[in-house]
Amino acid sequence: MIKVVKFGGSSLASAEQFKKVGNIIREEESRKYVVPSAPGKRFSEDTKVTDMLYKCYAEAEEGKNFDKQLKAIKERYNEIIKGLGLKLSLEEQFETIKKNFEAKAGKDYAASRGEYLNGIIMANYLGYQFIDAANVICFDENGEFDSEKTNEVCSEKLAATENAVIPGFYGAMPNGKVKTFSRGGSDVTGSIVARAIKADVYENWTDVTGVLAADPRLIQNPAPVGQLRYEELQTLSRVGMQILHEDAVAPVRQAQIPLRICNTHDPENPGTLVRPQMEPGEGQICFAGRRQLAMLRLTCPQEPDAEAKLAAILTQAQLSPFSMQSVCGELTVLLPMKSGSERLHRLQEQAAQALLPQSCTLRENLSILAALCRSTATVPKLLRAVEKSGAPVHLLQKCGACALMLVNDSQYEQSLRAAYSASRDLHD
Ligand code: ASP
Repeated sequence: MIKVVKFGGSSLASAEQFKKVGNIIREEESRKYVVPSAPGKRFSEDTKVTDMLYKCYAEAEEGKNFDKQLKAIKERYNEIIKGLGLKLSLEEQFETIKKNFEAKAGKDYAASRGEYLNGIIMANYLGYQFIDAANVICFDENGEFDSEKTNEVCSEKLAATENAVIPGFYGAMPNGKVKTFSRGGSDVTGSIVARAIKADVYENWTDVTGVLAADPRLIQNPAPVGQLRYEELQTLSRVGMQILHEDAVAPVRQAQIPLRICNTHDPENPGTLVRPQMEPGEGQICFAGRRQLAMLRLTCPQEPDAEAKLAAILTQAQLSPFSMQSVCGELTVLLPMKSGSERLHRLQEQAAQALLPQSCTLRENLSILAALCRSTATVPKLLRAVEKSGAPVHLLQKCGACALMLVNDSQYEQSLRAAYSASRDLHD
């Protein structure tokens, strides 16, 4: 049995947290490969080490003195080392980091040091081998993740290593330049490592008990979601659930490796198991959401290339839409943008000029309420509950197994409450 275990930043924010993590790893011999994040927040007003590194490097890039910032980062690590009682010094690594910052090694290099240093501590603490992710996670010369090469290199390296710590979040391009995934990318590394070693399970350890049926900040004690299918979690991540990086499902899905989302503070809790199939009746309705969207709607039945033209305008404006749909000459684009944005109004003008639509409307301050429900009979019931609460649904879309309801941002919470309480009486 082989398990790859990834621990998030809040699970590794202090020596206390490291000890909890150490106990979890030592409890099962199968937990052979560990992927750590950088130290996260120890308390709500704290700063993540990754953010400290970005800030420190910004000073370095401007040619300012960054000693103070680097010292504060070093202190975060030294506190962990001391709390764990390790005989380990990171002096040499910090010297190198300083030199590389002065030589302007890049923002990605800077951010990656959070995971790199935490990985060294973790390997020392566990007595596992440290494998620098720069040697096994490969990006191509354009900075795109090279899945095939990574799988080859990583499999070979791990097969020859019984226990290892591989820092999350980064890898390197063929010229050796460090490249990171987008924020939260250690989840992706864990999934890649699990695929490479053909793990039996990928455990993703975080600070919440798996997926919940709704955001616990908005709904009191939402029901835990015990099981999900890969594609369901992918969709939920895409529509705003923040439990796992959107790209972290694909590698384990490809290799059909079950993924378990567990809580470091409650290790006995089974959390959420994500796998290829589920027994009928095991599914549960659950909700996610995305705030601050704008909707641009154009009616242009005479323009056969409307969609392509609008896509080109969006690319030129460097805007990536959340979704774009064309139905009977009506084009609807949802954009993740705050209201009152100059760029948004410029886009509306450009679209109106290029497509000469019969009508062109822009609606701002919207939110998506996404409901994962397997039965099509469930959707109208949830929709009715939302509208009955007094929140009009401006648009209903489908995204994978999720129904997306577009509501006014100011009515998002009431919509969620209404839909959630209706879902409790439904058998999906
Ligand atoms: N440390 C990185 C971040 O804060 C990556 C991660 O935590 O997965 O985004």
